[in-house]
Amino acid sequence: MKPFKHIITFLLIIAYMSPSVSEAQTTANISYTVSFPEAQAHYADIEMHISGLKQNTLDLKMPVWTPGSYLVREFAKNIEAFSADAGGKAVPSPKINKNTWRIATKGVSTVNIKYRVYANEISVRTSYIDASHGFLSTSGIFIYPANMLHAPSTIHIKPYKDWAKVSTSLEMVNNDPFTRVSPNYDILFDSPIEVGNQDVFGFDAAGVKYEVCMYGGGNYDKERLKKDLHSIVEQETAIFGENPNKHYVFIVHNHLRGGGGLEHLSSTVLGASRDNYATEKGYQSFLSLAAHEHFHLWNVKRLRPIVLGPFDYDNENYTTNLWIAEGFTEYYQEIAVRRTNLYSPENYLGQIAGEFNILENLPGRNVQTVAESSFDAWIKAYRPNENSNNTTISYYNKGAIIGMMLDLEIINSSKGKYSLDDVMKYMYTEYYKTKKRGYTDAEFKLGFEKFAGKKLDDFYKNYINGLTPVDYNKYLGYAGYKIVDELADNNDPAFGVATAVTANKKLIVTSVVRGTSAYIDGINVNDELVAIDDNPVTDAATMLNGKKTGDKIKVDVIRDGLPLTLQVTLLKSTRVKYKIVPVGNETAQQLLVRKKWLSI
Ligand SMILES: [Zn+2]
Repeated sequence: MKPFKHIITFLLIIAYMSPSVSEAQTTANISYTVSFPEAQAHYADIEMHISGLKQNTLDLKMPVWTPGSYLVREFAKNIEAFSADAGGKAVPSPKINKNTWRIATKGVSTVNIKYRVYANEISVRTSYIDASHGFLSTSGIFIYPANMLHAPSTIHIKPYKDWAKVSTSLEMVNNDPFTRVSPNYDILFDSPIEVGNQDVFGFDAAGVKYEVCMYGGGNYDKERLKKDLHSIVEQETAIFGENPNKHYVFIVHNHLRGGGGLEHLSSTVLGASRDNYATEKGYQSFLSLAAHEHFHLWNVKRLRPIVLGPFDYDNENYTTNLWIAEGFTEYYQEIAVRRTNLYSPENYLGQIAGEFNILENLPGRNVQTVAESSFDAWIKAYRPNENSNNTTISYYNKGAIIGMMLDLEIINSSKGKYSLDDVMKYMYTEYYKTKKRGYTDAEFKLGFEKFAGKKLDDFYKNYINGLTPVDYNKYLGYAGYKIVDELADNNDPAFGVATAVTANKKLIVTSVVRGTSAYIDGINVNDELVAIDDNPVTDAATMLNGKKTGDKIKVDVIRDGLPLTLQVTLLKSTRVKYKIVPVGNETAQQLLVRKKWLSI
């Protein structure tokens, strides 16, 4: 990334002027050797070699989080058997806090460190190693010397047994796939490494070499995937006007049931279910996920909130703009797939209506703004509890809806001349390429206003920093659509709980929806539902059979081992289920906006 080059230049100047610690920092040589003598027990063994040091104390640190996944994960918890020698002599390496080891180097220039990493958590943002492969989520594998985040390093991989391939966006040294180089730690921590016998295939798109690396098997059709991923890459590149990579890697982990993805600068890690590719629904959801993570190579990896890079790897990095970084990516994942014609316009409208239904059925929409949702991702979105739906929203979900609202606003007010695409391209060019930094909240707002041709103070007050209900018909109306609630005539009562069935067939309340019958009359999370009006309750779907709105029912529960009877008045269900339909007799302007919005 260009911003980091400037930092290196700056440090070199300081080093020249004052040959002290900074000089040592810029001249140290760092290499790692990663081996897997006990891959079957989920271990990687790391040897780190640093030479050219000119300092008395060396602090080595492990990041506490991985960019893109906003939770402090304490990767140092997986490190064991840490040892160090300085100039060939064993030296103490005490920990001085949760993720820092201190070595008294006393002027010795060469230090070797050894440690082991236990990697047994299957997810796209954590490392996982077993006898079949090694997935290295690098921020949880490599320690780094404090104050040397700018330093380059070399990584040697010694594969386990018959592992024959390495897939990563890190560049090879001397055409050796097992030796890779990283220009600095921001890039190393943003470049996951897959080692094993993965199925690797590639395609060229937008002038970039794309590599797809499939671990875990699956019923995917390689040729179809290459063709469709190619279309998505081309569509997304067209939005920003350029594709800044030379080489990009899709690392895909196929499991019995897998999902999720994590974006990186020149690669992504996707989770998938290995048997899902053969169904249209499963295949489309895989393409949407790939489109989402790939879109991030611009939105958040390069066009980014100002605090998200260079990163602070010791602490939470707070931003109120994840509704742009994630929400707009969610919006564009569907728009990009729509533009490839892999979706029909109707299919797309169904997808976006699904986003409306998620938000409108969430009591948290009246509590948390989308800016707050973003800021508190670290303690709320990534740490949900039984009450989360009552108090929080998702910046992915509401962010996608805001993306749609602003897209339609801009298309409408510019009479089809501009769309949200133009804002994204402008912000990418202006901030990532020209100013070489992230954007502030106010700067992105100016970007919207530039193409909408109007001030958006009220929009921000209502929808970004406020709790005003979304006026769907206003925005959809620009394109000649409106929402219809398919449950408008429904008078059925709702109890208002989510439940789970335990192994011994007990029906346990797992959440209670604010404002519902259960909430008002005192049903609690962890209550075991036993009977309603003396009839045993066996499953949640049928427990209100025969009951009407307004009925007063007797609910027997067991709470903390004791029987308890509650009287509950059944209220009408407030659930909505919107679909999007044409308003009819659309004007020329509405048809123009529709055509631009849906690429039809
Ligand atoms: Zn994302």
